[in-house]
Amino acid sequence: MADCQRSMRKRIVVKVGSNVLTTDRGKLDITRVSALVDQIVWLRENGFDVVLVSSGAVACGRNELRVGHSLDSVEQRQLFSAMGQVKLMGLYYDLFREFSIHVGQVLTTKENFQSERSYQNQRACMEVMLENDVLPIVNENDTVSVEELMFTDNDELSGLIAKMIGAEMLVLLTGVDGLYNGNPQDVGSEVIRCVTAGDDVSRFVLPSKSSSGRGGMTSKFQTALSVAEAGIRVIIANGNRDDILPLLIKNPSDTVHTEFVPTGR
Ligand code: GLU
Repeated sequence: MADCQRSMRKRIVVKVGSNVLTTDRGKLDITRVSALVDQIVWLRENGFDVVLVSSGAVACGRNELRVGHSLDSVEQRQLFSAMGQVKLMGLYYDLFREFSIHVGQVLTTKENFQSERSYQNQRACMEVMLENDVLPIVNENDTVSVEELMFTDNDELSGLIAKMIGAEMLVLLTGVDGLYNGNPQDVGSEVIRCVTAGDDVSRFVLPSKSSSGRGGMTSKFQTALSVAEAGIRVIIANGNRDDILPLLIKNPSDTVHTEFVPTGR
């Protein structure tokens, strides 16, 4: 019986970027993480199984340790992600435990999505967690991922996870309200509310990136197109807005965001 009920639940992948989880000074924003946890709890209480793809490990770790000598970019990524991931998961563990929600850490690499055998193994890992009501918290394993074989960023990773688990929806939470029809800083620019197959909006995608993570609108756009083509709704929205996740479900028309409508709908 319990299993039947679980299989009826919709699956949603929420990806949250480093720029949402950390303050301007690069510290973990505990208030923001706590608000995100409350919203994920709301999703679970309202019929969704959630997979959280969380960035922020490197940004968190960078603040933990002052290194007196220079480190190259690979050393920095390995050292800071190793330290920051512990801190990040510790916080998620404590916050979700208040709601009696079990969390599990999934650290993965691009290789796990490449051969059929690895793909099925990764899928089985996600399924066993969801079937047992454990909330997967996913990140790239930056300690061992090698430059040539890295995900572009966690946007790409979240898209692959959404397809892998047959998600209903992928929500990419970032520091802006969505994809704008101009520079987000310009007063005249507006958020494009809906992108359907065949709309040519690529000229609006600016190549800017956040200072704390690897992502940017270009990769969000590419991920969104490819995931929507696989039949999954994709939303880009502002993770700094209060209650953004419940609002996107309860009142999408009054909540600013960009939606990529799945092909064929
Ligand atoms: N995996 C990186 C981290 O946890 C983030 C990559 C990205 O910015 O998408 O810091």
